[in-house]
Amino acid sequence: MHLFLYGPPGSGKSTIGHILASRLGLPFVDLDAVIVASAKQTIRGIFACEGETGFRARESAALASAIADPPSVIGLGGGALLKPENRAQAESAGEILCFDADAATLEGRVARAPGVRPLLSTPVSDCVQPPQAGQGKPISQLLAERAAHYASFPRRVKVSDRPPEETADDTQAALGLYRVSGMGSAYTVCVGDGLLDTLGARFRELGCGDRTVIVGDSHTLPLYGERAAASLRALGVTVSLAEIPAGEATKTIATVASLWPAFLKAGIERGHAVIALGGGVVGDLTGFAAATWLRGVRWVGLPTTLLAMVDSGLGGKTGADLPEGKNLVGAFHPPSLVLADTATLATLPVRELRCGLAEAVKHAVIGDPGLLDTLPRFAFCKNSDAAAPCASLSGAAWLAPFVARAMAVKVRVIQQDPFEKGLRAALNLGHTIGHGIEKATRFSVRHGEAVAIGTVLEARLAEELGLAQPGLAAQLAGLFSGLGLPVAPPPGIDLAEVLAAMTLDKKKADGKVRFALPVRLGEVRTG
Ligand code: NAD
Repeated sequence: MHLFLYGPPGSGKSTIGHILASRLGLPFVDLDAVIVASAKQTIRGIFACEGETGFRARESAALASAIADPPSVIGLGGGALLKPENRAQAESAGEILCFDADAATLEGRVARAPGVRPLLSTPVSDCVQPPQAGQGKPISQLLAERAAHYASFPRRVKVSDRPPEETADDTQAALGLYRVSGMGSAYTVCVGDGLLDTLGARFRELGCGDRTVIVGDSHTLPLYGERAAASLRALGVTVSLAEIPAGEATKTIATVASLWPAFLKAGIERGHAVIALGGGVVGDLTGFAAATWLRGVRWVGLPTTLLAMVDSGLGGKTGADLPEGKNLVGAFHPPSLVLADTATLATLPVRELRCGLAEAVKHAVIGDPGLLDTLPRFAFCKNSDAAAPCASLSGAAWLAPFVARAMAVKVRVIQQDPFEKGLRAALNLGHTIGHGIEKATRFSVRHGEAVAIGTVLEARLAEELGLAQPGLAAQLAGLFSGLGLPVAPPPGIDLAEVLAAMTLDKKKADGKVRFALPVRLGEVRTG
């Protein structure tokens, strides 16, 4: 699939295109540059000699040829998709993202490159001929003429005079697309509504052979196993299903050991990949079973909880709990592909959704405070029946971009520190106390709930140590409780047991318990 960047002249398609292509490991094609190279003259020169009709014919030919090439990021000219046949071709060859910008922003940018854009009335330094009738208009007029056209593209990103990297961040959130590298082979992470149906094609692209095992739990496999399997079977992949009981109590080495015979029976060999369909428990266990089967086979993550989408499904930490503590056995073994189908969140119980929101808040505190502005959309969580599914999320257009943005903080951190040598420890915000609370309550407090409580208590600790901005703990408590999350340990909890579990936590170093402490929204200190 190609990615097409579209929008008015000066909206940054080339600048953002270069950044995006480098982040995604794809080539960048600047369609205007291709046209100039093949015509051996400037765009203005082509307009002068051949008129707009001649230029548009060259543009259509260049577009068709770029589409025939392997997947790339393609920066389009500002009128390239005015022709319905060009638009239809691009729509069937990939995703189109259109940049929105106001006339003032565009005027400033266009003025910095005078004479390049023949349809605009910018100062001309290399004019071959005077502009033809209908040409040489101010950008505001061109924008007004094309307003309905640009607005007809559903995926749009507003550009302004922010740094281009920030616009590239928004573009990736709108596209729901990341590429994570740094730990073994790079892998693609896709977020979107309905992605389960694309599993077969994407699995085939990975070249993982003709068989697989889909591991799911007693909730996710009945809900989505057959749909995922159908997409694979349609492309000739033989699929076995392996079901494990739902819940944290399943996250044991005994469950991992029960998956190996399933892999053997399905004939999983070194070149194959297995698939994890479920929340963090299924992902951690399946990833670890994949890491240890035949000394390592590939795995694909299909996260179905919000928590697994924004957190556990990324970063390649796999493993199981021991009776003595959480995640004490494990391996770094990144997935080969992550497909986060946000449509699956419509069956997720509200209590589980809240848990994912706790991790999203954690990411906002670590590196994207602006994400907090989008939380009021989840206000319904506060008073909803915890056991009921989140049917209201079905088809919500804002959901996939929200999930993608909540993922972005973790993607950035694990890119820079894949093996938790330093920066990645920030992701443990709320987890040192949180893991102790989970353990001391025999997991009746869920992971995300424990992270919410742990984050508030760690913020309080940071305030007492004079590290955090005063009032931060109360601010965080307000955010979490607004989502229906607990912010204090349950009454009667054995604090000695919490402390004992914290001293066993694997985040210990040199015999000392380590914390990631919040300093203010957007900053966490580790040590
Ligand atoms: P989970 O996997 O237990 O899922 C929660 C519940 O939701 C389960 O009952 C599951 O069956 C159900 N469920 C899942 N998807 C559903 C859907 N779409 N519809 C209906 N029900 C659905 O728990 P979780 O919260 O996803 O993950 C928690 C685990 O993740 C913990 O073990 C934690 O330690 C781990 N984790 C790992 C990492 C990592 O980096 N590997 C990071 C954070 C958390």
